[in-house]
Formats: sequence, C-alpha cells, structure tokens
Amino acid sequence: MECAHPRCTRPVIIDQPYAGAHLCRPHFADSVVERVRRELHRQAPRLPGGTLAVALSGGKDSGVLLTLLVRLLGERRNIRIVAITIDEGIEQYRAATLLRARELTQRLGVEHVVRRFQDELGTTTDQAAARLPQVAPCSTCGVWRRTLLNRTARELGAVRLAVGFNLDDLAQTVLMNLVRGEPHRLLQMAPHRSVEEGMVPRIAPLATVPEREVYLYARLEGIPFDHTTCPHAGRAMRNVFRETLWKMEEEIPGSRHALLRTREKLIEALSALPPGSPTGKCQACGEPASQEFCRSCLFLESLTEADGSP
Ligand code: SF4
Ligand SMILES: [Zn+2]
Ligand SMILES: [Zn+2]
Repeated sequence: MECAHPRCTRPVIIDQPYAGAHLCRPHFADSVVERVRRELHRQAPRLPGGTLAVALSGGKDSGVLLTLLVRLLGERRNIRIVAITIDEGIEQYRAATLLRARELTQRLGVEHVVRRFQDELGTTTDQAAARLPQVAPCSTCGVWRRTLLNRTARELGAVRLAVGFNLDDLAQTVLMNLVRGEPHRLLQMAPHRSVEEGMVPRIAPLATVPEREVYLYARLEGIPFDHTTCPHAGRAMRNVFRETLWKMEEEIPGSRHALLRTREKLIEALSALPPGSPTGKCQACGEPASQEFCRSCLFLESLTEADGSP
C-alpha cells in the first residue's frame, strides 16, 4: 500500500480510517506537526508574548506536546516556555516519569518546575487512596493536580497553560459529561474559550491527534517518555468510556472527531444562555471556586474528617 500523499510512493506506516488515508513516515510526521500547529493557532490566536506554561507528566502526550511547542514557538523571542511537573506522591510510578520529564526538558533546554502534593497540600494521592477508600483516587488526584497546575502557572505569570490531552482523552471527557448529564462541564474542559479571574486559560494543541498517533510520533521522533501505568488507574471511571469509544471508532470511524464537534455546538448553545453563578474565590484557599469552597479544599476536608489530620 502506498502513501495517500500526491506522488509519494513510500510505504505506509499508519492508516487513518477516520480520514480514509494511509501515510508514510515523513508525511505522517508532517501531518502531526501540521495538526498541532493548526490547533495551536485556532485555540490561541494572536498568542501574546509572555510565559507559556506546559504541563509535563513524563508520559508520551505531554512529551510530544512540549517538543512540538518548542519547535513551533521556540524561535519567538517574546515567548518563554516553562514545563511544570506535578508529583502526586504515587509510589512505583512518579519517580520514573519525573526522570523522563527531566531528561526531555534538559534535551530541549526548557525551564522545568516541579511541585509536590506533599509540600503544597500536606498529603499525597497514595495517602488519600488509603484514607478515603470510598473515593476513586483519580477524583482527588485530578482535582488537586488541576489546582496546583493552575496555581503554579499563575505564579509563573503564564498567559496560557498547555495540556497534553489528545483526541481520545477529549472525546472520552465529552462522552463522560454527556452520559453523566453534566453538559455544563463541557465549558470547563480545555481548550478554554473565556478567561476567568484567577484561572490561566488552558489550551490542548494535541486535540485532533488520536492517542495511537501521538504514541507513534513519540517513538519515531525518539522523544523520551515513560510507559509505566499508574497503580490507581484501574479504578478510573474513564476506563469504561475509553473502551466504549474504541468500539465506537472501530464501527463508526470519525466518532471521536464528531464528539468534539458536538462539544463545539453545545458550547455555542450553552454560551447563549444567561450566565450561571459567577466564579468567586474559595473561602479557604482563595483559588477560583463556583461555591463557598473549592473541590480541592473539600477533598482535603474529607481527609481530615476521615482520620483527624490532613
Ligand atoms: S491515573 Fe488517576 S491517580 Fe493515577 S495519576 Fe492519573 S489521575 Fe492520578
Ligand atoms: Zn508519503
Ligand atoms: Zn480552596
């Protein structure tokens, strides 16, 4: 089979059923860069100079994201790229990913900031999992990581926070929010359309690249990343949606892209409604919150209630 690119006779390395295409290695690599470039400009048009924070976990997605942002924006002298890694305190997982994150930032010459749950919150994901067995670890971990990423990006004076969500991640989140009857949460997903006080708007430039293509690109480009799976991942509700979407995509190629288009249309409709409760500040930590206390503080509070100390 030959590459779909006009006049290219090189052998194919990837098929893209959602696009009805097959691509050779160089044209596949070019297509990834082009999709990310397009999304970056669509989500952050007229990106002003300043600091661009990049959430870097040490996995394949954020590794590809950082590499491409340096490639696409590294020449702009008015943009400073800073990678942020959050150490959630997960044994047998985070140490290896941190090493890869460090290796990549050193290779790219990018500033690297590491923040630890233990230092910032006085607890870890492992401790929360043991002390709150009724709560899925990803719930506390995800909320705390988002809070710390936002706080760190804000302290760095970042104009945007880039996150490594790929097409599969975003399509799963759309489906999850719809199935749970929480369409308003679509507004809170990256990429953000509006700027709220205290929040650094998040962008997701890998939004149109499927997970397996991100993986392939990382391997082909020799980007260092860690394969270790988080020991708590098995309890994530997201797994159901991941498997459902795999089946849907196999039967109906293009389902993931369609879900992202659904999100865009729903956001248009939701934005036309009168605004809901304005975002205020958490009474405990001062971070943005739509209620009296933010979810991060509510989880910390439930830890205190569980055994008397945060
Ligand atoms: S899988 Fe869940 S617990 Fe593990 S790092 Fe991700 S969000 Fe945290
Ligand atoms: Zn080709
Ligand atoms: Zn709070």
